[in-house]
Amino acid sequence: SIYGDYIKSVIRTVPDWPQSGVNFRDITPLLQNSAAFRKLIDSFVHRYQEMDIDAVAAIDARGFIVGAPLAYELGCSFVPVRKKGKLPFKTISETYTLEYGEAEVELHSDAFREGDRILVVDDLIATGGTMLAAAKLITRTGGHVVETAAIVDLPDLSGSQRIRDAGYSVFSVCS
Ligand code: 5GP
Repeated sequence: SIYGDYIKSVIRTVPDWPQSGVNFRDITPLLQNSAAFRKLIDSFVHRYQEMDIDAVAAIDARGFIVGAPLAYELGCSFVPVRKKGKLPFKTISETYTLEYGEAEVELHSDAFREGDRILVVDDLIATGGTMLAAAKLITRTGGHVVETAAIVDLPDLSGSQRIRDAGYSVFSVCS
């Protein structure tokens, strides 16, 4: 994307966090920088404003930071995709495997209508497990996943390829 190199330049790499050997990509410097945050949201708005999106489904928790202003700008619904046990009403969930153990994402059963055009957003795609689970959950609930989108893709981990192999479109502002 046009601002990709700029956005990448305001993301900080924290070595050995949360554990030894992991390079964590920290988006907080990007959020602190109002010009960068505006360019980030504008990048998503520009891409999706003509795509008839009915709802932005954002993944708990950093996906919310991008998803809420994007839904506001697109004039569409905001749907939280939450970690297990956070949503109060009737839920539908999808379990996925992590390097160690399992995780689960949940949606409210009335989050959108059958056939609604959904954009799924998160901050980052690593193994792709989280984004893929969210996309599958939305598909199972009757939504049409127009695209999955993140600020950052880590291509060495092949997560975006895995999501594409499952039949979903993937967009990231930078890699
Ligand atoms: P995945 O399921 O693709 O392996 O991991 C992606 C999920 O974990 C996203 O929800 C993302 O917020 C979080 N995550 C994993 N690694 C990083 C990282 O280096 N930086 C950030 N900001 N989030 C990460």
